[in-house]
Amino acid sequence: MSQRRKFIKQSLVGSVLFLPGVAAACAQTQTTPTPTGEKPLILSTWNHGIPANDAAWAKLNETGSILDAVEAGVRVTELDLENLSVGLQGLPDREGITTLDASIMTGDGACGTVAFVRQVKHPISLARAVMEKTPHVMLVGEGARQFAIAEGFPLEEEKLSPKAQVEYDKWKVTSQYKPIINIENHDTIGMIGIDANGKLAGSCTTSGLAYKMHGRVGDSPIIGAGLYVDDEVGAATATGLGESIIRICGSFLIVELMRQGRTPQEACEEAVKRLVAKNKNIKDIQAGFLAINKYGETGAFAVHPGFNFAKAIASGNTLIDSNSHFKP
Ligand code: ASP
Repeated sequence: MSQRRKFIKQSLVGSVLFLPGVAAACAQTQTTPTPTGEKPLILSTWNHGIPANDAAWAKLNETGSILDAVEAGVRVTELDLENLSVGLQGLPDREGITTLDASIMTGDGACGTVAFVRQVKHPISLARAVMEKTPHVMLVGEGARQFAIAEGFPLEEEKLSPKAQVEYDKWKVTSQYKPIINIENHDTIGMIGIDANGKLAGSCTTSGLAYKMHGRVGDSPIIGAGLYVDDEVGAATATGLGESIIRICGSFLIVELMRQGRTPQEACEEAVKRLVAKNKNIKDIQAGFLAINKYGETGAFAVHPGFNFAKAIASGNTLIDSNSHFKP
């Protein structure tokens, strides 16, 4: 170090030491707030997050694995016949075919995803098999289906659920070839969780946008868009119009904002702000984000009112309304 730089450094240290007011101010700015979070903790999107969280919590107690928990949780939603946006009972694409997307990730960077997959009842488990049994991250379409067969996943008959058939028949009357997403109607399940030791995992599964073009894939199976998890920082997941979420790498953005010091709530709000700025027809777009940091603090924010999520901690599993960018 040059003599001059050494001198400047020493004199700065000296001035702090000998000016009590300045020292006090520095001490103040360096104070980091004590985290107020709680672990274990599981968050998931929408009303169906309640039964999903219950199943995830039970699995966490049973195996102690947060990865097992987030897989088991969303498997419940994948079978929920009332849900028209997750699983094989979901609304089909324009051709009347239901195709599914899913992703799973752990905080050490392991991840697996499937997209545009048909006939598989539990795409989340197929995504986990991609993560654990292949050298790849993502399998799509026929390749994903072939992998499912090879792994012994039973294939279901390709037939719309009675509810989806009714809706599809109604839609065909006008066949609006325009992927307008109803502000209130998104039901993807994204789940993120942290165990008592701070290990994180997340899962996300969907039948995607109703009446999408055949072959369309949303944010849910895109690592960094619909889901991102990093044990060093936290986790985030998304729901809503996938195109708007992919455009801003929503979940990765939130985790990186937390890495830079934002709280989960601040990070979700910033991501929504960015999404609003980058998407023109924002009145027709709903998107919502959930985040947790490694301390078990949480955040949630959406573009429009109506987004809710389920939060499970040791004292209970509750449904919470998210705040939004546009006010009711
Ligand atoms: N994010 C999903 C997608 O765009 C839709 C949803 O959240 O329901 O495929």
